[in-house]
Amino acid sequence: MKKYGALEAGGTKMVCALGLSDGTILDQTSIPTTTPEETVNRIADYFRGTEIVALGVATFGPVDVKKGSPTYGRILNTPKLAWQNYDLLSALKQRIPVPMEIDTDVNGSCLGELTFGCAKGLDSVIYITIGTGVGVGIAINGQLMHGMLHPEAGHILLNKHPKDTYKGKCPFHPNCMEGLCAGPANEERWGAKAETLQDRQEVWELEAYYIAQAAVNFICTLSPRKIILGGGVMHQEQLFPLIRQKTKEMLNGYIDTAELRDMENYIVPASLHDDQGIMGAVQLAKWAENGTDNRVF
Ligand code: ADP
Ligand code: ZN
Repeated sequence: MKKYGALEAGGTKMVCALGLSDGTILDQTSIPTTTPEETVNRIADYFRGTEIVALGVATFGPVDVKKGSPTYGRILNTPKLAWQNYDLLSALKQRIPVPMEIDTDVNGSCLGELTFGCAKGLDSVIYITIGTGVGVGIAINGQLMHGMLHPEAGHILLNKHPKDTYKGKCPFHPNCMEGLCAGPANEERWGAKAETLQDRQEVWELEAYYIAQAAVNFICTLSPRKIILGGGVMHQEQLFPLIRQKTKEMLNGYIDTAELRDMENYIVPASLHDDQGIMGAVQLAKWAENGTDNRVF
């Protein structure tokens, strides 16, 4: 059976895997992210001799994922200075001579859910990760959305809760989603690790208030058939009913669709046991093997 290579490139670790066409992961390993050169050499060591037919890369960003762009495949102005302007795709291609396809980590997770998970068969879906940062992967008409760069929808601006005096964690925006509701924002606002705040109702009420605002904005702009929420913070399962309820309240009956009447199946947790990113990278590899038609259907 044909083997596909998958790489989920993160700021702290690189997950490398071998997968089959149906998304089965045969083997997986994690390599710490150090200097670009050392890291890429170790990735190449992992894939050497595996006979993969193609490699899919889902990477941290910002990254140039526009085919035909002179800087296609480069990491852009990341705060990880050693990686700034690093030509990740070329470095991988020099070492691993197979067709490759690259996209953002969140588009990768979105694609994993769209191909193998709870969004299978849907034409439009969004995947929001709420962890160290907030990122949003967007599939529209079965294609991953890039636009002029790629969506940076973790930085949409939200209305501050009148009682929230926290100044926000994002150095660029005082009231963006990431700055208000990613893990480090909660840690700073409440003075404790988010994992330890489980029993503080006000923490999750506020978190849900912001995530619901974001959901409403995405519903009104992108009209997704489903909203999938992943990332470390979303391990707090009590958030889901709160987010669904607040989303309904904020929409205030304005949009009435079958999907929105079934909130339990509309705003949902990631369904692939935290393998959505690496499975999406397998699908990117399948696209790389087959040329450039990136439609799911
Ligand atoms: P990353 O975003 O770096 O890929 P994660 O998605 O695991 O990694 O996110 C890490 C962040 O999520 C940390 O800020 C951490 O505080 C928070 N986090 C992790 N697990 C939980 C949990 N069970 N409850 C609340 N917050 C969590
Ligand atoms: Zn921001």
